[in-house]
Amino acid sequence: MTINYITTDTIVDWLKEHLSEERFLHTMGVYEMAQELAEKFGEDKNKAGIAALLHDCAKEIPFEEMQEIALRENLSIDKSWLNCKKILHAPISAYLAKTYFKISDKDIIDSIYFHTVGKKDMTLLDKIVFIADKIETKTREEKYAEPIRTVLNTTNSLDKAILKSIELTIKSLVDRELEINFQTVDFYNYLLNLTAK
Ligand code: GDP
Ligand code: FE
Ligand code: FE
Repeated sequence: MTINYITTDTIVDWLKEHLSEERFLHTMGVYEMAQELAEKFGEDKNKAGIAALLHDCAKEIPFEEMQEIALRENLSIDKSWLNCKKILHAPISAYLAKTYFKISDKDIIDSIYFHTVGKKDMTLLDKIVFIADKIETKTREEKYAEPIRTVLNTTNSLDKAILKSIELTIKSLVDRELEINFQTVDFYNYLLNLTAK
């Protein structure tokens, strides 16, 4: 399968070489899960596959280097993301997908960009990539993945599954005494209202 002349095989070879074994395994897990969800919810499997493969492609770049790339390339990344070690890999992965991997499809790029924090009015592709990332079966801790999977399977609602995921992320950030991005809190409140309707 090709998209913009790059094959999934080419991307997989690059990932194998540039990611740690664990991150590579995670990525392949996200790929499989994204394929499954795309099939189930009627999304383009090619797009979901490419987005899943590239969602963490910048994850192994040192934080300071990611910040340098953002400044040098004048990427308009929210300041609160630019200073957050955990979040910055998402927009930088989107940047690499666009420039290095030559992915011109904006839907794919956006789904990579927002896979960590999420946003209001996510597309079906955004939601699939977001959830596949959190519930893949190869490396995700069951403590976090299982409750999200259960919500998804009992309600068939990606929004409710995302709400559960954000809830668990916030709880885990509190436990680890890590800063919670204001957009994460905003998104949590938004989903709470959305899914209560
Ligand atoms: P991964 O890249 O596959 O490990 O998964 P994600 O991209 O979803 O998340 C990366 C990390 O970002 C996880 O450890 C999340 O807990 C963390 N994260 C998500 N939202 C926030 C936030 O608002 N603040 C901080 N500090 N970390 C966050
Ligand atoms: Fe990530
Ligand atoms: Fe990931």
